[in-house]
Amino acid sequence: MRIDSDLKLDFRDVLIRPKRSGLLSRSEVVLRRRFTFPHSGDAWEGVPLIASNMDTVGTLMMAEVLARHGMLTALHKFYSVEECRSFFGRDADSTDADGGKCQNPDIGIRDAVFFSFGITEVFMERLDAVMAMADARERRPKFVCLDVANGYSEQFITVVRAVREKYPEAVIMAGNVVTGEMTEELVIAGADIVKVGIGSGSVCTTREQTGVGFPQLSAVIECADAAHGLKGLVCSDGGCRVPGDVAKAFAAGADFVMLGGMLAGHDESGGEVSVRRYLTDELDDNGERIVDERRAVTFYGMSSDTAMQKYYGGVAEYRASEGVCVELPYRGAVEVTLQEILGGLRSTCTYVGAHRLKELSKRATFVIGRSAPD
Ligand code: 5GP
Repeated sequence: MRIDSDLKLDFRDVLIRPKRSGLLSRSEVVLRRRFTFPHSGDAWEGVPLIASNMDTVGTLMMAEVLARHGMLTALHKFYSVEECRSFFGRDADSTDADGGKCQNPDIGIRDAVFFSFGITEVFMERLDAVMAMADARERRPKFVCLDVANGYSEQFITVVRAVREKYPEAVIMAGNVVTGEMTEELVIAGADIVKVGIGSGSVCTTREQTGVGFPQLSAVIECADAAHGLKGLVCSDGGCRVPGDVAKAFAAGADFVMLGGMLAGHDESGGEVSVRRYLTDELDDNGERIVDERRAVTFYGMSSDTAMQKYYGGVAEYRASEGVCVELPYRGAVEVTLQEILGGLRSTCTYVGAHRLKELSKRATFVIGRSAPD
């Protein structure tokens, strides 16, 4: 047994120190980034935020809206190949949900979605079927997400290596891990992007169930350092609750940030909407308390009882669920939340004098200081 007594920090443990800035307005800040992926060799340009591959976040509807902003969506693993095919097929004419032309025709579906897979044989067959959706190599899906709760298994590395060999042109994001040495292993095995985060998700109970985890800010700092040394990239996954957390993740060195809870609860999120009636403190003309209504949306972890029940018919005997199901207030169109997140990011960049999101991590200094209560 060893104790690592180095300081490890979460988003809420730090604040970003303001710096002299030549920026006159937030509108001057450029949030778009351009990456060339080390293994695939392909390039991508956009705002590097990714909707999480949870079935109440990473939906086809979410992908359509995020694509218009140049953002990415990791589609959840449970769409049928047929559903993926008909969605992906629309890329040919770049039309949006209503049949109109996309606002940004440069960003088609191919540049806006990750197709997600686990590593079992069933998923590998699904991967082959999804990759076969287009006949020509250059029209195949571009982004593949190989996603397991525990990226430390040897089998995971073997699968990443095999998928890299089979699809050399695919951009592969693989995870999740939280330490530098495993980040390096994944990049060497063929991952272009390493997904970072264990135990930090908003509906995740891994820390409680297993005692395993790593404070997210420190995980991103350590993994980004390791990946960048090999020209790999990292995606911070989990733990962002407010726009300031997203800014901290980028400031810590994340190239991409994946969001679950922050994008859940919207029209596009796919959770079940229910109406809750409750008694207010106001009285009507008869002196009765007025009943009001509130709309709520379910949001659950992909390892929760709810998800297991839905997709696997229950939690297998040998495992416990590592996620919970919560009710979020219904939040309407995701567009409004996106504006809030992007506005927050622009403001952070203005505070530290970063003209581009790319400069944020170089300009940022963290100070230890609680930004939120426990
Ligand atoms: P959030 O942005 O909500 O804080 O975190 C989203 C991330 O939580 C997801 O992208 C995924 O990595 C992780 N996650 C989703 N469902 C579960 C779950 O049931 N258990 C655990 N341990 N993590 C989950």
